[in-house]
Amino acid sequence: MQLKDQVALVTGGGSGLGLAIVERFVEEGARVAIFDRSQERIDDAVKAFGDKVVGIAGDVRKVDDNNRAVAECVSAFGKLDTFVGNAGIWDYSKTMVSTEDDELSSAFDEMFAINVKGYVLGAKAALPELYKTKGHMIFTASNAAFYPGGGGVLYTATKHAVVGMIKQMAHEFAPHVRVNGVAPGGIGGSNLAGTSALSQEGIKFSDIPLDDLMKQMLPLERAFNAREYAGAYAFFANRRDNTPGTGAVLNFDGGIGMRGF
Ligand code: NAD
Repeated sequence: MQLKDQVALVTGGGSGLGLAIVERFVEEGARVAIFDRSQERIDDAVKAFGDKVVGIAGDVRKVDDNNRAVAECVSAFGKLDTFVGNAGIWDYSKTMVSTEDDELSSAFDEMFAINVKGYVLGAKAALPELYKTKGHMIFTASNAAFYPGGGGVLYTATKHAVVGMIKQMAHEFAPHVRVNGVAPGGIGGSNLAGTSALSQEGIKFSDIPLDDLMKQMLPLERAFNAREYAGAYAFFANRRDNTPGTGAVLNFDGGIGMRGF
């Protein structure tokens, strides 16, 4: 019970990695607010976890929705200890050369609005409550925050931006609130969506042969599922084991970059 009596808010907590984080936090004794744009996924999670969770439907791009998510979390559970910024979309590695100028411009706005602005607005909304509890924030980055080839230029740029954001927030919010990140690699069981601007609604993440790809790419020679990544978030959220950590981003990706030449 690493997180007994702790309260967390997880964006994108209705699916994939976010859902696995919710599950792990509940298992460790926390109560969790799930903020997701899919009401259906929230309903399923509430069915699965009962009164240990509360669901808030909304869009991370909107100031009011972020503020409402924090308010509903505190109204349900009395406080907030950990804010997990995790909701994100992908560009399905669409190359710049194959993208029309107008599409590129709209896709840039959409991708940065969800993957970066969503984190910034969520952090701003959570901050007053985290000051009260001397709490912390954890953000989902990606292997694409460190290496090329984990997406197209837009996704890779958003995830590099997340690392800069984490460092600046860690600097600005110290000594009151700690800010860290996890950089997972490919996630089995994810439903990671593409952009509307690039008409990627019909593409399914589950159609990617992730197991085969990861077997070839990774020194650890296999794909990892969302649950295997969730423990890193429990580590960062644990007040006993992670008191010195702020501004850290954990490469948690099956060893990408450890191949050498
Ligand atoms: P997922 O699609 O399974 O889960 C993301 C959730 O976020 C969904 O439930 C979705 O409804 C929600 N969401 C998306 N846009 C939203 C918005 N505007 N407002 C509110 N909710 C919104 O995807 P996932 O793979 O679990 O992705 C979670 C995070 O992990 C993302 O930040 C992603 O970039 C990162 N990541 C994923 C992979 C991967 O291989 N899937 C690898 C590295 C990093």
